[in-house]
Amino acid sequence: MARRTKIIATIGPASDDPGVLRGMIDAGADIIRIGLAHGTLAEAIARYRHVRQVAREAERTVGTLIDLPGPKVRLAQFADGGADLATGTTVLLRPGAPASTQAVLGVDYAELLEDVKLGDKLALGDGTVRCEIVDLGHDQATVRITHGGRLQGRPGLHVPADRLGLATPTAEDLYKLDAFVEEGADMVALSFVRSAHDVRRVGTEPAPRGPLVIAKIETRAAVENLDGIIAASGAVMVARGDLGIELGIEELPTLQKRIIRGCVALGRPVITATQMLESMITAATPTRAEVSDVANAVFDGTSALMLSAETAVGIDPVGAVQTMARVSERADREFDYDNWARRLRATRRTDDVDADDRVTDAMTGAAWRAATEMGATAIICISDTGFTVRSIARFRPSMPILGFTPDERTQHQLTLSWGTQPLLGGSMADSLEMMWSLVQTARERGLIRSGDVVAVLAGAGQGSRAKATDLLRLVRVP
Ligand code: PGA
Ligand code: MN
Repeated sequence: MARRTKIIATIGPASDDPGVLRGMIDAGADIIRIGLAHGTLAEAIARYRHVRQVAREAERTVGTLIDLPGPKVRLAQFADGGADLATGTTVLLRPGAPASTQAVLGVDYAELLEDVKLGDKLALGDGTVRCEIVDLGHDQATVRITHGGRLQGRPGLHVPADRLGLATPTAEDLYKLDAFVEEGADMVALSFVRSAHDVRRVGTEPAPRGPLVIAKIETRAAVENLDGIIAASGAVMVARGDLGIELGIEELPTLQKRIIRGCVALGRPVITATQMLESMITAATPTRAEVSDVANAVFDGTSALMLSAETAVGIDPVGAVQTMARVSERADREFDYDNWARRLRATRRTDDVDADDRVTDAMTGAAWRAATEMGATAIICISDTGFTVRSIARFRPSMPILGFTPDERTQHQLTLSWGTQPLLGGSMADSLEMMWSLVQTARERGLIRSGDVVAVLAGAGQGSRAKATDLLRLVRVP
């Protein structure tokens, strides 16, 4: 069985080399993520164009994901080597100070002192250093270090998102996003969203004309408004790094399951992210615990797995993708396909969807059942926007989904959909003729063979005029 769960690899200094990037794509990276938290816009655009070029050379459909950092507050730069902040000591937090030392931490956000209150708990760096505000002046705050550690570079300062006056997306996010919409980026991720309104503020054209908007769930407010955010988004990310700081790491395993379930119920792809193979940043092999974490994310029903620092700054980006591919492919084989689909039929949400979508919902359910009962080799699905393909992927059918679309942008956005091979095609006027021609195309490409039974799903209105997917055929491949 070929791998069903998708892999997202973040690029950075460790993967700028064309050979390394090509190696990552050949090893199975379905989507390349470009983070905008570090470096200039020009550098990020150069990376983006480089990814497109290498994907073209590799003749692979690779999705591109631009990650907007949102309102991330940072400390001012520490001197080389950083500084140790010991538990129990007190330190000053001073907005506007140009540098950070052991005694005074500069902060790059001028209004910080207006947002926070006495007793607020803040996290520094990756969250290991924690402190509490014990005195609040008008140009500085005194914090007591409740959990000490070493800080270096320009560490993040994590202020609870419900305190932060800064909105997401920030003006800088939107400015940068414009440049990538211009470039034709396939997906955009939004950090620190708190509500469906934040997602709508992105303001790009609905997918596939605009990028697929991915809401990163990493604030307490986002967890509270989860259903609305999922409904307003094209896809969702379980952003375990900041989510763990904001809600406590002990909440992560159940939150991950809850967020994934909510996304699948609405047919939204869902990404599990952060520290999945963390030890591979510096080691050749992952820990046993990391391997189990990857497999368990697959069993939870994640659509995609994400690599961050492992591929952006790690010692072996290609090895990290290879390991991720091996572990997830093995887990895919053990996935509980039968029970998943049965459970889904009970939990999928159709109450607040419009009439056309209800037709698609019923037809994708029927396609899953027919394909499963007939032992079909593949489900061929024709979709303009990708909605029908994402809708059938919810059922996690045990056979491949061949997702045909006449729209190149949709094809690239389908790289995120579980179990789906994104293919270009399906723009003919006559629905029945088109269904046959795609069966033929799939056979010619070696994806199905003569004598196989396949399920074919399409809209009778064909092309961009098809409103709902209302045609299902079971055919024997000639
Ligand atoms: P980040 O998001 O890596 O951009 O912070 C993911 C996370 O917080 O887990
Ligand atoms: Mn984050």
